[in-house]
Parts: sequence; structure tokens; C-alpha cells
Amino acid sequence: MAKPLIAGNWKMHGSLALIEEFGRAFATVELPAEVEVALIVPFPYLAQAAQKLASVGVCVGAQTLSDQPSGALTGEVSGDMLRELGARMVLVGHSERRSLFHEDDQAVLGRIRAALAVGLTPILCLGETLEQRDDDRTEAVVLGQLEAVFDALDVDERTRLVVAYEPVWAIGTGRTATPEQAQAVHSAIRQRLVGYSSALGENTQILYGGSMKAANAADLLAQPDIDGGLVGGASLQVDDFLAICQSAG
Ligand code: PEP
Repeated sequence: MAKPLIAGNWKMHGSLALIEEFGRAFATVELPAEVEVALIVPFPYLAQAAQKLASVGVCVGAQTLSDQPSGALTGEVSGDMLRELGARMVLVGHSERRSLFHEDDQAVLGRIRAALAVGLTPILCLGETLEQRDDDRTEAVVLGQLEAVFDALDVDERTRLVVAYEPVWAIGTGRTATPEQAQAVHSAIRQRLVGYSSALGENTQILYGGSMKAANAADLLAQPDIDGGLVGGASLQVDDFLAICQSAG
């Protein structure tokens, strides 16, 4: 059984003051012991976040990384640099990266390899657009994105990823997949992972993302194949985020 993980994705939001606020809040609450919590912050806040949050049990992550270890790549950031600043996780293949920055499955695979090479845990994001769902292609799209990465990795590498199912139509829209809709896709992902190995299916954390908030988290997290959440908007309000973390226990 995979441990629950709640990861907040700040996107291009937040501030040093907000990190301080999260640090103070997490220092005073008691979360269910089995729940892992991560905050995925913009690059400039990584060092501060790692310093303030690691001691209160919150893991820090980045939102993307270069597929190269170093080079003449102005504006890019390598996995080693993220590690040096205290990041332990990194999002790869978020739908905003896929659509706005044209990252295809090959680009996603390159970044996954770069993350694994330096010991970062990649959170591989998968999800269909509304058009693909309406065309009945949800499973084909999501499993295709999964296989584009997992088929290319070796047995050990596959065990080092977290997977996040994020229907594109539910991200930042306020429109959440119903628990049943989400569970159906999570179950398909789990079955595909079992196809690689039963241990992989059992142990891989599969998160749901897409307008998760305090009011709907418990119902989503109660589904048998939903192991946690990737939370955007609601991770910017400390009380909302804490409530989601509490409901994962
Ligand atoms: C996300 O950015 O991964 C996300 C799920 O955003 P939101 O919760 O705002 O839909």
C-alpha cells in the first residue's frame, strides 16, 4: 500500500513571507504520521523553503529541470543545482509545461532521466484534455504518457517515480473530476503499473490533481487507488492546505 502524499504546487505564485507563514503553521500542527507532505515552489524560493520547511517535516520540490547536467543553456536549471538548494522532488510533464512550453513525451523522458540521475524524485504528471475525454480517449492518452516514460526506464528506475493523474480540464478551473471519474483512471494506471510488476503497482504513489480543495479532498482520497493529491490553488492558503493534509490520514 502506497503512503499518502500531498504535494502543493505553487506554480508562479508565493513569496518568502508565505514560506515563513507555512513554516510557522506546520511547526504547530500535528499531521497524521503516515502522511508525506511536499511543497513545490518556484526556483528562487527553494533554499529558503528547504531551510524553513525541512525541520517541520515538509519536503521541498521544484517545478521543472533541464534534461542536461550543465551547459550553455541560458535560463535552464540542472538537477544538481536543485539538489544543492535542498529540493528532493521535481514535477515533470505538468500539463502547463506540456501545453505552454511544448514539452512532448520525449522531453518529459529526458527530464525524468535527469532527475533520476541526481537522486531527485520525479512526480510524473499525466492527463487528458476535455476534447480527448469527450472522444473517449482518456485511458489511451494517459496510459500512453505513462508508457512513454516507464517503458524506457529500467526496473529499479521505475520504482523511484511518483505518478500524478491531472485531468487538464480540471486544473485551475474549479471543476474537479468526480471521485468515480478519478478512481477509474487511477485504477487503469495502477493496472498498467502491475503489468510491469505487482510490487510496482502496489507501491507507486498515484496522486490526483485538478481543483482539489479542503471541501472535496476527503471524498477523492477515500478512493482505493488515490494515494494523495497534487494541489495547485488551494496550496497557497495554509489553512486549506493543512486541511487537505489532515484528510489524507
Ligand atoms: C496543479 O497545478 O497541478 C493543479 C492541480 O492546480 P489546481 O489545484 O489549482 O487545479
